Parts: sequence; structure tokens; C-alpha cells
Amino acid sequence: MTADGPPLNRWDQFIVANTFPQSVFMRTNARIVVVGGGMMGASLLYHLALEGCSDTLLVEKNELTSGSTWHAAGQCPSITGSYNLAKIHAYSNQLYPRLEALTGQYVSWHPAGGLRLATNDHELAWLKFIYGYSKSIGFNMDIVGLDVIKRLNPFLTTDNVLAAAWTTDDGHGDPSGLCNALAKAARDLGATVMRHNRVVDIRRRPGGEWEVVTEKGSIVAEMVVNAAGCYARQIAAMVGADAPITNMQHHYVVTHPIQAFIDRSDEIPVMRDSYTSGYFRQEQKSGLIGVYESTELREAWAPQGFPAWESSNELFPDDLERIAPWLERAIERMPIFGDAGIRRVINGAIPHTPDGAPLLGPAAGLKNFWMCCGTSFGIAQGGGCGKYLAQWMLHGDAEINMTEFDPRRFGKFADAAYTRDKVFLDYRLTFTTRRPGEEELAGRPQKTSPLHETLQARGCVHTETFGWERPKWFSLDGRVEDYGYRRNNVFEVVRDEVAAVHERVGILDLTGFAKYDISGPDAEAFLSRLCANKVPHKNGGIGLVHLLSSGGRILGEMTVSRLGADRFYALAAAAAELRDMDLLTQGVRPGEAVHIENITETRGVIVLSGPRSRELLSRLTDADLSNAQFRWLSAREITVAGHAVRALRVSYVGELGWELHPPMASMSAIYDALWAAGQGLGIANYGLYAVNSMRIEKGYKAWSTELTNELTMLEADMSRFIDFNKSDFVGKSATQAQTPRPLKIVYVEVGATDTDARGGEPVLHEDRCIGVTTSGAYGHRVCKSLAFACVPPQFAAPGSVFDILLQGERRRATVLEHPAFDPDNSRMKV
Ligand SMILES: Cc1cc2nc3c(=O)[nH]c(=O)nc-3n(C[C@H](O)[C@H](O)[C@H](O)COP(=O)(O)OP(=O)(O)OC[C@H]3O[C@@H](n4cnc5c(N)ncnc54)[C@H](O)[C@@H]3O)c2cc1C
Repeated sequence: MTADGPPLNRWDQFIVANTFPQSVFMRTNARIVVVGGGMMGASLLYHLALEGCSDTLLVEKNELTSGSTWHAAGQCPSITGSYNLAKIHAYSNQLYPRLEALTGQYVSWHPAGGLRLATNDHELAWLKFIYGYSKSIGFNMDIVGLDVIKRLNPFLTTDNVLAAAWTTDDGHGDPSGLCNALAKAARDLGATVMRHNRVVDIRRRPGGEWEVVTEKGSIVAEMVVNAAGCYARQIAAMVGADAPITNMQHHYVVTHPIQAFIDRSDEIPVMRDSYTSGYFRQEQKSGLIGVYESTELREAWAPQGFPAWESSNELFPDDLERIAPWLERAIERMPIFGDAGIRRVINGAIPHTPDGAPLLGPAAGLKNFWMCCGTSFGIAQGGGCGKYLAQWMLHGDAEINMTEFDPRRFGKFADAAYTRDKVFLDYRLTFTTRRPGEEELAGRPQKTSPLHETLQARGCVHTETFGWERPKWFSLDGRVEDYGYRRNNVFEVVRDEVAAVHERVGILDLTGFAKYDISGPDAEAFLSRLCANKVPHKNGGIGLVHLLSSGGRILGEMTVSRLGADRFYALAAAAAELRDMDLLTQGVRPGEAVHIENITETRGVIVLSGPRSRELLSRLTDADLSNAQFRWLSAREITVAGHAVRALRVSYVGELGWELHPPMASMSAIYDALWAAGQGLGIANYGLYAVNSMRIEKGYKAWSTELTNELTMLEADMSRFIDFNKSDFVGKSATQAQTPRPLKIVYVEVGATDTDARGGEPVLHEDRCIGVTTSGAYGHRVCKSLAFACVPPQFAAPGSVFDILLQGERRRATVLEHPAFDPDNSRMKV
């Protein structure tokens, strides 16, 4: 190193110096082929080997790290807005400092830590929320004031800065070095890396294996992984799938060496700042500034034409004019950057997904084709993504909740235009703190129910789930939600919606539910094998069932109604539509006579709930709705306002009620008739905020928060939904053989004041973090703050007490034995 700092072409040096050994002979078989040798592919290869599989082959079209990884700035923050993603970051930050010793490969790890500035109350509230899960995940974070900030970075102008999050487990490394180290570690464990070989096609062979066609020949594999970075969409297209990714151009600049850095031995932490809309740090003795332009002036990049694979180590022309406003802000923050002058500008492509989270998991509808791509912070996330995806691929489950990374959270609605709109928004907001409940309209609406406009005219504020617009709450007086971590101006609106359901009758459009018709002579046996619980035996019976992995972890939850001898109707969460379709279709055995049809878009759902729902519905149907003739937990095909519907007497909110499932074309007529007939009965629209309040009062656990791939049914305290008398079901032997781990989901009342648990908050006993909340809400019928938490069994007994850290404040939580509202279900059974 010279006084000038490191050579600027360190990336190019790595490529020249990278004399990575390569097999002389082309392999023609591997259990797993990974396409792409960037951070994601290399990390996956290493972790597959660590988890026990080194019959793997990574194919890279050029050199390792010749895609996005090559030109990344290498920062690895601990802080990110998602609890599960933060676990991914935390693992990477544990791994990277060890890699050099493990492999001998230089990775230039700088444990500089990070400072994320808070410049307003919302940002500070966000940091307090993250501070909570830093304790349950276990990464080092403190919220510090201006004195500490100034000590750590004496060059910073702290105008408008209230505080900062100081994290000390993270830093920055050389992306190329990290990627090569991971690949070397994989090779040391027996994996194979093949460079300078392009994958040109991927085909399914008649036996079910994949044939990966490369420039140098074909490779037959049981599983294929798409880790092709900016080319992931092209690779997905080879198998008829899609990877909703837009590649954004992103700039950072490196200054000339700065005397103040030369004179000092300490390195400043990596700084992140919403005012700058970016990051800045030391790059040896120079400055490095990266910005996310928060205006319309943004550029996307796509490989031109197909197949067009020319792009390697590609950088785009600088556009300093475009990023100048943010560079100026960085200089305002760090005046010492002002005189240094720019000596290098990097403008490279980063893959982004519509929601900013990576694509990790199976491609919809394709057995053994996996995605490991779509990460916009792939250096920070590469380590953890590789680890948890490898667990999922090899063992059927990962140890963290993978729901929000599963590529099947996107369907056909996430087309190129939607993806581009969402990605532009996500890029622009990279350093903007979104508050709970805050949603933007970019890319929306994609899927609407026939009631959309009617409800909007009645004040409906919609939320988006799996492309569907669904009612969140109703603004009857034109108010706009004042988003935040504390109870806000919608609290009383939700209270009133709950009161309407509890005292009179509420109506809700839940058309987004995933819906499947399952029929055929073997339908019952098939469902019985796939589900842990009994499948309804009698016509008209309804059962709540769970689909498990072979290891006994929870994959799905469905309500199954029996409509005939060999006819079933299954419902699942809107976001689970493609995942559950895969579980169902891939669970059919050869020769089994079962027909599965996804009818989500052909039927709508109107939910009618409340003590006057029978009275209302009976005004529009001849069907006998009496308790004797239409029991709780039963389903019938009836006529409402002259339209045929599937009517299910079920309730997620704990009141008398029916779900009506008519063909989509009948939705408006039925809703209008119910609304008109309900006028004298005090009918009111309600939304999902109210549903969440009422479901938690009933103690109902939700798929994706309590019921996840992290837990078994016993750990989730769901044993009453298992039928061990059945000869077999997927996951039975594992559920019986395993001793549950020392953790259990419990239901608690929280001594909260003006903020409720939302999931991810640490559970504390004395000074120890003993668990984490999974979800929470205020129960308006019982006037209690309620939550679910995952704790060790010794804290699971009713009456046990511990604390929950809510926005930095310790609140007492008491384990409840029964649902807080109507534990006997008497209100649903009347
Ligand atoms: C300027 C800039 C700064 C950044 N700074 C940071 C940062 O500080 N921290 C951070 O976490 N992230 C940062 N990123 C983002 C990060 O670089 C990416 O998220 C990450 O590199 C993505 O890794 P990947 O493995 O998915 O993709 P890539 O690195 O692009 O790897 C994909 C590989 O697949 C290969 N490939 C494609 N098609 C084929 C084919 N048909 N056959 C064989 N091989 C193929 C490509 O050649 C490529 O090597 C930055 C990005 C940019 C542009």
C-alpha cells in the first residue's frame, strides 16, 4: 500500500490473480448445478457442502465475480428493516471475518462497524424497533447520541441528527475476495467450479432430471439453481419461469486520499444517512460515497436481446450530473470530502425485486428448480442467503422463516411493468424509513375484486397482498392514516369496525383467498396423506388442516370443506396461493386419481360476521340457516339473492358468521343485496386491521408468523390439529420421533400503553433475552394488548411472566391459558 492508499484497480487485480483451479474434464453429472459464480452462487456452493452435499457443480460464464459482485462497494450492514433478513445479514457478518483464516484468500475485511443516522422521530422509532430485534437475533447495536457519533466520526456535520444506531459486528470487505474465498472454501469441501462456460439452455428430461446445456456440453442434475444475478430472468425463462427482477444502475465514487484520514489510525464507521440518501465511508485513506437518487432520474439496465451474454465486468458511463445533488449532501455531511476530488466513479447494475427482498426458494410449479438471486445487497446477504437456502434444499426446511424470501410470493401479476414500477420505488426509498402500514401505489392495482370500486367509494383503504387489493380499513370521515409505531388515528376507526362486527353485522371482501377444487376417487386419501389433521369425513364438514414437511415443520395451513363424496374445496392464505398449489400438485403420487384446480380467480369471497348475520343472510336466501340445519363448521351450496354460492359457516373473528364464495361474476350483485338488506341492521364494512385485532383475541395463530417452517406442530402448540391415529401423513414419523426443541409458542397479555407488539420484539427475563414475539395487536373487544411469543417451555405455563421490549420500553407480559375473547366459542355456535 502506498500513501495514496490501495491500488484502484484492486478488482481487476483479483481477476488476474485468480488462478482458480479448474477441472480439466467436463463433468456431465452433478446432484446440483448452480448457474452463476457471484456472491450468491459461491456462498450457496459452500453452504451446500457444509450441509453435506458436495456433489455440486457451479457453472460461470466468465470469471467468478464478473457480474454485480465485481463492482460492489462491499458494505455489510447489520441493520435492515426485516427481522428475518436481519438474521441473514447477521450470519454473513459472523462468517466473513473468519473467511480469510479459513481459506487463505485475502478478503480485506474491515470491522469498521456502522452508524445509521436518525434525522427525525420516525427514523428514531424505526431504530428503536430494530434495536429490539438486535437483542433477539443477537447482533451488537446501540442507539447513541451526538457525543458518541462525534467521537466515532469527528468529521461529521450533525445538523438535524437526533441520534444514530451504532452497530459493531459489521463492516466492509472486498466483494471479489469474499466471493473467491467462498468458492475456495466450497472447493476445499469437494465442490466443483467451472469457469468460462455459459449455460445456454435448461431442459427437463423424461425421467424428471434437468439437463443443463452449456457451451461445453450438457450436465444432468437432480436440482438446478438460478444464481445468475442480473441474468436471472433470462435463466428462469429457459425453464418457462420468471424471476421478477429489474437491474438498476447504481453509482458510487471514490475520492483522492484525504489528509485527515491519513493522519488518523482509526477508521470511521460506515455511515448511512437518509439526508444523503446513501452511504459514505473510508476506502483506505480515501473517501467512498454511494447514493440512491431519490427522484425520477433513475436508470434501469437489462441485458440487450436474447441470448446476449456480452456483459462481464461491465460498468456504465458515469452520470455525475444525475447524482450530483446527493454527492453535495454527502459533502455537507462530511466537508472533508469537498476538497478531495473524485478519482474513480463506479456505475454498475444491481438486481432488485419488487419488494426489495431476495428470491430464495423453489420456482413456482417446477420441482427441483431453485432461485438464489434478486438480491440488491448481495454482499451483505450472500453469506446468510447461501446458508439458509442450502438448508432448505437439502433438508426440506431452513432454520429461519423463509416466507418473505420464497420466490412464489410473486405470481403472474409481477410482470415486467409492475416489477419496474416497484423496483424504481424501492430504489428511490432505499434510505427512506417506511413506517408500519405505509404503502405506496406504484405498480398497483394488479388484481382487484369486483367490489373494488364500490368499497373505495365507501372509504376503503386497500392493502396489497400477492397482487390483490384487499380492504385494510375504512375512512368514513376522510381521514388519512398517520403511520407510526404508536397507536394512531386509525386506532379508534378499527375499534368502531370491531364494534360493528361484535354488536351488529360486518361485511368484508376477502376475495384474495387462495382457493382450490380437489376432486377424484383418490381425493380423500390424497388429502389425508398430505394433511396432519383429519380430513372432513361427512359431506358438508369443514376441517382446519396443516401441511408439513417430511421433517415435520409447518409448510401450509388450509381450511378444507367436503362438498361431495370425492369433492373438496380448500382455502389458504392469499400469499400462499402458488406455494400451496405446489404442495398439492407435487404431492400427488403416480397413478393417483386426483384432480387439483386453482380456482382463486374464478370465485370471490364475502365474509359476513356478527350476531345479526343470520338475520341478514336469511332475508336473501331460502336456505335454512338455523343452528340445527346449518351447524358451525359446516358448508353447503345455497342461493343468495338468486345467485349460487358456496356458504361456509366459519369465522376467523370469533362471531356468528358465514363466508360466501360465489362465482366472481355474482360478487357485486350479492354484495349490493346484502348491503341494502343490512341497512336496518347496522351493517358496516370492515377491513384487515379489524380482522387482526379479532383473530388475536381468539388466540388464532397465523400462517407465516406463528405457523412457519421454523417450527413443528408441537412447538407451535398445535397438537390438537394432528390426527396420530391416521396410518400415515407427511411428517408423521418426524413429528413422533422428534423431541421438540426447548421453545414453544405462547399467547400473552401485554401491559402495553400506546404501542403494541408487531413481531420481532425481544422477550426478556431479567437481563436475558429468552425469546421473541411473532405477532401482536390490540384486542378491542377485550381492551387488552395481546401477542404471541416463542419462549422456552419453562416460561410457557399459564401465569408465567416475562417482559417484552416495545419501542425501547419494557412491558410486562403474562401467559394466558385461554383465548382472551370467548374461549368456549359460544358466540360462533349460536
Ligand atoms: C456500484 C454497486 C455497489 C454495490 N455495493 C454493495 C454493497 O456495498 N453491499 C452489498 O451488499 N451489495 C452491494 N451491491 C450489490 C451487489 O453487488 C449485488 O447484490 C450482488 O453482487 C449480487 O450477487 P449475485 O451473485 O446475485 O450476482 P452476480 O454477482 O451478478 O453473479 C451472477 C453471475 O452469474 C453469471 N452468469 C449469468 N448468466 C450466466 C450463464 N448463462 N451461464 C453461466 N453464468 C452466468 C454472471 O457472469 C455472474 O458472474 C452493489 C452493487 C453495485 C452495482
